[in-house]
Amino acid sequence: MNPGARIVILGKQGAGKGTQAVRLSRHYVVPHVSTGDTFRAAVRSGSEFGHKARKFLDAGELVPDEIVIGMVRERLTRDDTTHRGFILDGFPRTVPQAEDLMQLLQPTGVDLVINIEIDTSSVLRRLASRRVCSDCGANYSVGDNPPRVRGICDVCGGEVVQRDDDTESAIRRRLELYERETAPLIEWFEARGLLATLEGTGSPDEVTDRLVSEVDRRKQRALPGC
Ligand code: AMP
Repeated sequence: MNPGARIVILGKQGAGKGTQAVRLSRHYVVPHVSTGDTFRAAVRSGSEFGHKARKFLDAGELVPDEIVIGMVRERLTRDDTTHRGFILDGFPRTVPQAEDLMQLLQPTGVDLVINIEIDTSSVLRRLASRRVCSDCGANYSVGDNPPRVRGICDVCGGEVVQRDDDTESAIRRRLELYERETAPLIEWFEARGLLATLEGTGSPDEVTDRLVSEVDRRKQRALPGC
C-alpha cells in the first residue's frame, strides 16, 4: 500500500460516503474531513457558529458557500492535510465550491474524485435505518450494522442516535438539492479527468475493496515512469 491520498467522495445522501470515508481514511492514514460532521459538532458545542448552522442542517438546506468554503480552507491548509492528504466527504456540493477547492489545492490537486452510485430506493431504505455516533460520527444501521451495545458507539463509546436531519421532509429536500446543486459536479469533475463512478451496492467491505482498487490504480498511473 502506498500511504497518503487526496480523495474527494461524492454521492447521494445514504450512498455510504461517511462509512467509506472513515474506512479510506484508516487505509491511507489520512484525515477524514467531513463538512457535515464539522457542522454537527459545532451545533452540539452550542457556539454561535453552530447556532447559525443549525437552521440550515435541520431544514436539509445547504449552508451558504462562503461559510463552508472558509471552513474547508482552514482545515485543508493545516499541516496534516497538506503533507499527507485527506478524504474529503460532503464537500464540494456546488460548482462554486468545486472551483474554490481546485484553486486551493493548486498545484497538487486531487488524486481522484469518487462518485458512489446508488439508486434512490436503496437510499431511502438506508437513511431510515441510519444511526450515527454523536461524538465521532461513526455510522451504523439498525438493520445490518448495529453497534455491539445498543446505543453506544463501538469506536469511542459515544451515544449512537438518529440524525436530526434524517426526517422525511429534510431527506426529501436534501435529495432535491443533491440533484440540482451536486449532481452537476459529476460532469464537472469528469471533464477534468478526475472522476471514477463506482457502485455503492454490496457489503461495506466489498465497496471499500472496489474503492481502494480504483484509488491504487490511479495513484500507480500517476507515478513517474508509469
Ligand atoms: P452531510 O453529513 O454531508 O449529509 O451534511 C449534513 C448537512 O450539513 C447538509 O444537509 C448541509 O446542511 C450541511 N453541509 C455539509 N456539507 C455542506 C456543503 N459542502 N455545502 C453546504 N452545506 C453543507
